[in-house]
Amino acid sequence: MIVCKFGGSSLSDAAQIRKACAILLENSERKIMVVSAPGKRRGIQGDTKFTDVLIFAAEEIFAGRGGAEELRVISTRLRETARDLCLPSSLAAALISEINLLAGELASKRARTRDALLAMGEISAARMVAAFLQKEGCNARFVDPREAGLLLARADGTTCILPETYDRLASLAHTDGIVVFPGFFGVSREGEIITFSRGGSDITGAVLAAAVNADLYENWTDRDSVFAADPELVRDAVPLAEMSFREMRVLSSHGFSIFHPDALEPVIQRGIPVHIRNTNNPSSEGTRLVAERTDIHREITGIAAADHYSSVRIQGLPTGGEQDDRSLVFSILADLGIRARVAHSGNDALCFIIRDPAFTQVIESDLRQQLRDIFGMAGILVNRELTALLLAGEGLSDTGAVLARAMAALEKEQIIVDMSVPRFSEISMLFLIHSGDKKKAVRALYREFFE
Ligand code: ASP
Repeated sequence: MIVCKFGGSSLSDAAQIRKACAILLENSERKIMVVSAPGKRRGIQGDTKFTDVLIFAAEEIFAGRGGAEELRVISTRLRETARDLCLPSSLAAALISEINLLAGELASKRARTRDALLAMGEISAARMVAAFLQKEGCNARFVDPREAGLLLARADGTTCILPETYDRLASLAHTDGIVVFPGFFGVSREGEIITFSRGGSDITGAVLAAAVNADLYENWTDRDSVFAADPELVRDAVPLAEMSFREMRVLSSHGFSIFHPDALEPVIQRGIPVHIRNTNNPSSEGTRLVAERTDIHREITGIAAADHYSSVRIQGLPTGGEQDDRSLVFSILADLGIRARVAHSGNDALCFIIRDPAFTQVIESDLRQQLRDIFGMAGILVNRELTALLLAGEGLSDTGAVLARAMAALEKEQIIVDMSVPRFSEISMLFLIHSGDKKKAVRALYREFFE
C-alpha cells in the first residue's frame, strides 16, 4: 500500500486537484491520500497560500479588526474551486459557514480556536478532493483526523504525537476504497484541534504511513527532485536521486524545506521508504529517501543554509572546571527558555550556537548579567544575524580534509567563519558565517565539492 501526500502547490486550484487525483488513480496501491491546504496558484502574481490567509484572518480578528477582507478572499477561493471542479455549491457554502463560525468564536478570544480555524485549509481541500473523486465514480471518503484518532499534545509550544495514535490509525489499512485525509492537524485527548508547525502535512503523511505499515510514502510536491543546494542560490545544482534518512534529517533542519524534518521519525522507525516526486512532472525521477544508501560517490551530498543564528563565546573562564561550567551555562539558558548547542568547550572558553527566535536583545542582556554574576570577569561575545552552512553526506569520512577544503574555499572568497563545528553530527559539519555572505558562501562550497 502507498500513502501519498500532496502539498499545497499540488492542490492550489481545480486544475492542480485534477492532476493530483489523476496521479492517485493511476496506481491502485495508492489507498491513502493526505492533502495540504491549497498553496499559491500558478499564474496569479502575488497569490497567497490558503493557510496564510487564514493566519492573517486570525490576526485581524485578534486585533479587533474583524478580518472581513481575508474571510471574503477565502470564500471566493472556495466557491471558485467548487465551481471549477463542477461540485455542488452547497459544499463550498458549508465550508464557508464552518469557517465563519470558527472566526466568530475566535473573536470571543478562545485562543485554541485559532488552530481549528487554520485546520480549515486542509479540511476544505480534503472535502473538495473527496467529493471530486466520488463525482468521478471512485469509492473515496473523507476521514476526519478527530474521529480517526490522530492524537496530539502540545508542550512548550511544540506539538508531539501521542503513542496510541499509531494503533488507532492502523485500521485505515483495511478501509475499502480511498481515504482522503487532511494533513497538518490532529486532536488532543480533550478533543481540541492542535496543528503541527508549518508544512506539517508531511508529518501527517508519515504518521499514517507508519500506522498502516505502508510499503511506500510518496510525497508529491512541485520540484523534480531534491537538489544538492538550494536552486535559488545555485543554478543547475545537481539533482539527488537518493538520500539517506539521516542526510535528509540534518539538511531539512537547516534549510532544505522540501520535507519537514519531523516527518522523518515515524518512517525511520518502521523503515518505510519515502519518494519525493513532482505533481507537475510525474515522469521525473524524484528523490528517494532510504535507510541505507547503496550508491555513494561523493563525500558531500548536500549543502544547506539557514538564517537567524547567533553565536555566544564565553572566554577567560576562571574556574577551569569545564564540565561544571557547561552545565551551569546550560541551566541558565534553559531557565531563559533558550535552546543552545555547544560548538566548542575548552578549559578557558565555551562557545555556543543558538538558533532561537526567543534569543532577543533583552534575553541577551539577562544572559550577560547572569554569566557575569557567576564567572566574574569572563569576556562574553555575542554575534547575531549569522547563517549556518551545513555540509552533509554519508560519504563524509575524512573530516579533517573536508574541513580544510571548505575553509580554504570560503577564505578564497574572503568569507569570515565565525564558528565551525567539524563534527556537527556523524555525517555533517557546520559553519557560521555572516548572513550577508550566504549566497557567495554556498556557491563557493558548491564549486569546491560538486564541480
Ligand atoms: N497548510 C500548512 C502550511 O501551509 C501545512 C502544510 O501545507 O503542510 O504550513
